[in-house]
Amino acid sequence: EARFRASVGAAPRISHDARRTAERAAHASGAAFRNAVDSDPALDDVRAWALGALGADPGAPSSPVLHTTADVDAVVERAGALGAAWGAVPAPERAAVLEAAADALERRRGDLVTSMAHEGGKTVAEADPEVSEAVDFARYYAASARALDATAAASAADGEPIRYVPVAVTLVTPPWNFPVAIPAGGVLAALAAGSAVVAKPAHAVPRCLEIAADAVREALTAHGHPADLVQVVRTDEGGVGRHLVGHGGVDQVILTGAIETARMFAGWRSAHPGGPRLFAETSGKNSLIVTPSADYDLAVADVVRSAFGHAGQKCSAASLLILVGSVGSSARFRAQLVDAVRSLRVGAPTDPGTGMGPVIEPPEGKLLRALTALEPGETWLVEPAELDADAPWTGRLWRPGVRDGVAPGSFFHLTECFGPVLGIMRASSLEQAIAWQNQVRFGLTGGIHSLDDGEIEQWLDAVEVGNAYVNRHITGAIVQRQPFGGWKDSAVGPGAKAGGPHYVAQLGRWEADPAEH
Ligand code: GLU
Repeated sequence: EARFRASVGAAPRISHDARRTAERAAHASGAAFRNAVDSDPALDDVRAWALGALGADPGAPSSPVLHTTADVDAVVERAGALGAAWGAVPAPERAAVLEAAADALERRRGDLVTSMAHEGGKTVAEADPEVSEAVDFARYYAASARALDATAAASAADGEPIRYVPVAVTLVTPPWNFPVAIPAGGVLAALAAGSAVVAKPAHAVPRCLEIAADAVREALTAHGHPADLVQVVRTDEGGVGRHLVGHGGVDQVILTGAIETARMFAGWRSAHPGGPRLFAETSGKNSLIVTPSADYDLAVADVVRSAFGHAGQKCSAASLLILVGSVGSSARFRAQLVDAVRSLRVGAPTDPGTGMGPVIEPPEGKLLRALTALEPGETWLVEPAELDADAPWTGRLWRPGVRDGVAPGSFFHLTECFGPVLGIMRASSLEQAIAWQNQVRFGLTGGIHSLDDGEIEQWLDAVEVGNAYVNRHITGAIVQRQPFGGWKDSAVGPGAKAGGPHYVAQLGRWEADPAEH
């Protein structure tokens, strides 16, 4: 703890540790990778082209489908051979490939935005920064690759010399909700770490990953390395997927998905010598607290963005709004919130004017319940409604909903529903709000809107989340500045935070360096 506090510098009173990022809006002025990308005027024409190209279909997926366990064995065997050679490539050369990949991803910005809109239902406003995040991962993990040598050198100078040894094969299994940034992050981190990659896109969004992988493969080839260091494969049958995840030749798996999937993967991999080596970011049930000292205008804008960005389909999304004391009875706050939610323009993601796009499929299960049924004591502050829509959006366009009076311990308090519904709880004190926030089993993101330093400190010391945001929306972590990852049931495995300083280093092995003894 003391070590991490020391590294915080400008904010020494914030308690930090390796699984936690606390960010205040007031401290957000440092250079960040995404800012660098976004402020590059050379990209303006690319963006303009992307908007113009959105009508185009991203085309049919081209990656091979693995039908049998023998197909899987061949892919893993190939990765093993290529990975062994790639691991011997010096880290600075691997870093140079990642930097070329950043440029190649930039060149495909239009195609990536288009495929995210068509396959994933992501609006232009959400998809464009997602490309930036993928580019940021490439540049940041290039720096991380270079840092591996520095860490080894420092160990020799400081005491026990250790060396970094890459593992050969990393399987990357990303989710559908961030179909470019999350797979790109996994693929790029694994390459930076010196490993070959097998990447399996989520069913709904194969083109997104294929296009991102093409950019990385182009960079590999340009530097004289085999494109197949990144193999994109699909599976059409559960048994084949299980064989891949549990394969003895797969050294490690990077998963972002539901906690249930992560536990299943861990089970499939439990027989591996040395353990499952699973790095999983999982679910969230995140809340934003607003206290009476808050700037209501800012708070409402951040609540709406956090709850309804990508139709609420983010692990980081705000699903609960916890109003403290007089905020809960403020007619002004309520009116602003209702207006802001009602003003969201729901429509097709391919229309650049859309504020909130579709859900990934017609709601069922928990999400359908959240959108259509109230629990005892709840009322609709804004009632959700399904909108008429042509294919492929039929059943998928919903006006967002706000359910009021969510009771502690109820279904909506504790269950991740992953869609455009926000629940309101009213707490009599900040202590009570924090207790409700921490009562959920997940611990991914959380936020507070308050202009009182004492409240902010109290909250930061007590909140059990990986990413703690003050006076800011609680989605959209930025590479390097806000490494992303959770506590509690929001992570399975050791998992350093994505986009943070330890992420690449954890993907290989560190051992005593006999040459230095
Ligand atoms: N990194 C994303 C964010 O900060 C969330 C990723 C996810 O939903 O899995 O909003």
